Amino acid sequence: YALYHGKRNHRSMVTVFSTSHRNMIHLDASIEQALRKADFSEELEVYFQPIVDITTEKIVAFEALARWVNPVLGPISPAQFIPVAERTGIINQQTRILLEKALTAAAKWPAHIRLSFNLSAHDLSSPDIVQRIVQIIDQSKFNPRQLDMEITETAVMHDIEQAKWATEQIRKLGCGITLDDFGTGHSSLSQLHALSLSKIKIDRSFVTNIEKNPASLKIVKSLLALSRDMELDCIIEGVETTEEMAVIKEIGGSMVQGYLYSKPMPASGTEQWLHKNAMVTA
Ligand code: C2E
Ligand code: MG
Ligand code: MG
Ligand code: MG
Repeated sequence: YALYHGKRNHRSMVTVFSTSHRNMIHLDASIEQALRKADFSEELEVYFQPIVDITTEKIVAFEALARWVNPVLGPISPAQFIPVAERTGIINQQTRILLEKALTAAAKWPAHIRLSFNLSAHDLSSPDIVQRIVQIIDQSKFNPRQLDMEITETAVMHDIEQAKWATEQIRKLGCGITLDDFGTGHSSLSQLHALSLSKIKIDRSFVTNIEKNPASLKIVKSLLALSRDMELDCIIEGVETTEEMAVIKEIGGSMVQGYLYSKPMPASGTEQWLHKNAMVTA
């Protein structure tokens, strides 16, 4: 690949490309090595990011986001280690520990605050996914009606029949199902309709600079309309600025998640947020 480019493009480009590509492979290999040796109950932590109802300014949920700090490699972002964990099957063990940790933290919240938890593509395609979820929920004594499972469009498309079955079963447990990163995949409306969804989450890529980008505005407007037609709640992800927020309010968005409200924080930080929430009510 590098050689092919070398003949057509500038030489220095080739060097940049092949070096960074090689580094990526090295990094994946070191991540894999570290994952195989990791003590996840020690090294994995769950952070939480609030999801806010902008009509009331109150928190309605927190999304659980994995954080991994390895003693040798340091902090590694989930975008980097989740794909490696999926490829190696290590994700099964990770998902269990993350869900256990997330439920432990969420058990301290008021009952109307929901927990939103990311399932990976590998989780969704496992035949025993429902059993595994049931087991963890039972052990934790957490109310499944307070729990949403986030799945991505890409994971769904990997095996639509399995996704249909799994989402149905998970809904039967009482949990909600949120379609994450909505708009970035290649699913058709009829395929989405076949899934037992309760919410969709509009991807951050459509929200960034929405006030200056007519194309993004059109997309978000039509995704909002679509969610209304399908009678699904809609969360708009990645809101960073007051300009973006103003547009979202104008077009009738209701639930928002993003740095404008808060970055993901450790479990201890959620209590202060919930305290503030209580103040808003009073
Ligand atoms: P996601 O599920 O779409 O999560 C949202 C990501 O966007 C998070 O990144 C969050 O920190 C980031 N984000 C939220 N608001 C903003 C904003 O206003 N600006 C910007 N720039 N970013 C924002 P994070 O925590 O790095 O996670 C990245 C992805 O890794 C997640 O995307 C999800 O696909 C995956 N992931 C994270 N935790 C888990 C987990 O526990 N299990 C699984 N299977 N995947 C996870
Ligand atoms: Mg998510
Ligand atoms: Mg997302
Ligand atoms: Mg995303």
